[in-house]
Amino acid sequence: MICPVGAISMVEDYEGFLYPEIDKDKCVKCNKCKKICSNFNPNNSYLEKLYAGYTKIEKDLNECSSGGMFYILAKYVIENHGIVFGVEFDENVRAIHNYADNLEDCKKFRGSKYVRSDINNSYQEVKDFLEDNRLVLFTGTPCQCNALKVFLKKNYENLILCDVICHNNPSPKVLKKYIEELEEKNGKKVKNIYFRSKENTWKNQTPIIEYDDGQRQEENSFFEAFVKELLGRPSCYSCVFANKKRVTDFTIGDLWGVENFNLNIKEKNGISLFTINSVKAEQLFEKVKNELYYEKIESDAPYNNNHYKNTLSNNHRNKFYKQINKKVSIIKLMQKYSKITFVDRVQFKIRRTMRKIKNSN
Ligand SMILES: Cc1cc2nc3c(=O)[nH]c(=O)nc-3n(C[C@H](O)[C@H](O)[C@H](O)COP(=O)(O)OP(=O)(O)OC[C@H]3O[C@@H](n4cnc5c(N)ncnc54)[C@H](O)[C@@H]3O)c2cc1C
Repeated sequence: MICPVGAISMVEDYEGFLYPEIDKDKCVKCNKCKKICSNFNPNNSYLEKLYAGYTKIEKDLNECSSGGMFYILAKYVIENHGIVFGVEFDENVRAIHNYADNLEDCKKFRGSKYVRSDINNSYQEVKDFLEDNRLVLFTGTPCQCNALKVFLKKNYENLILCDVICHNNPSPKVLKKYIEELEEKNGKKVKNIYFRSKENTWKNQTPIIEYDDGQRQEENSFFEAFVKELLGRPSCYSCVFANKKRVTDFTIGDLWGVENFNLNIKEKNGISLFTINSVKAEQLFEKVKNELYYEKIESDAPYNNNHYKNTLSNNHRNKFYKQINKKVSIIKLMQKYSKITFVDRVQFKIRRTMRKIKNSN
């Protein structure tokens, strides 16, 4: 988009992640792309306030991944004639960024899709709506939110940025292969994946595969591999956004280990950990806070449980990715490398210690 001659295209590597590639014949060497990329470091907001909370509407709570904070923000924006950007699965179960101008369409954004989303033309669309004086809520990973800020080049009062706590983004190619294998095995099309189905409650979530004939199957191998850090994009493991200073107005995640925080509000079927990172967010929170049960958390402890520094990849990540293009069962491959042995644990600890030493130097 920044390139005046359209010399940049996004090209998929063998792992299935997209990277920019410059067509040297078209390039006029204006260096605009290099300048914008060098600007790609975190522009952090401070004023961080940490809360636990969940929506008062039970139906909404059951449909979201944690406490439904996203949908509360979305409702406010839609009620104020605004536009909401989020990630949905398209008809081929590809995760794509899209926008909605009504609450019904915002429902598609609910539920975490644990895969790198295709940003599509969203950054330009956000800009167009902002210039048109519409209120815009953009939700995405911290790196996507930061990229939008870099793209926009200036602050817009009518933009609300909300990122998810993110510990890695799996490859869309692996998800595609996974879906193809399930479809071949079962002889029908996968219609949707609910990675965070609360059918067995929030704490016992099981990924559900929904087929086009309505059958629902519990299937864990992709989710397990994601949690075991096998699938992330290489840059996720040195992510500059995984820290306590956020690049957005709101940050939303799960309050894992809720039982350890001695809260007055009781978890029912999911509870969000969210932070308020800007004055704009504080003002907005005042307007929506009656929609949720919430409580301020004074300590930093929930951060420390929840990927507020970048994670280490699985020891077998690279071995796994080297095999994904062979004629192999992706499910078996994910299951094989998701198993953590004693040796893996020792190796992991050594790598973690080495990283600590490196970071302290
Ligand atoms: C790849 C990924 C990794 C995550 N890792 C963690 C973690 O380690 N710890 C933690 O506490 N929380 C993590 N989360 C966030 C968590 O899963 C919930 O999304 C968050 O708690 C919000 O819950 P909710 O009930 O408010 O949102 P919901 O109502 O479920 O809405 C989901 C929100 O997530 C956005 N979203 C969905 N899929 C994607 C995607 N692929 N990329 C970008 N945005 C997306 C939607 O646009 C929407 O804003 C992660 C989310 C993603 C997408």
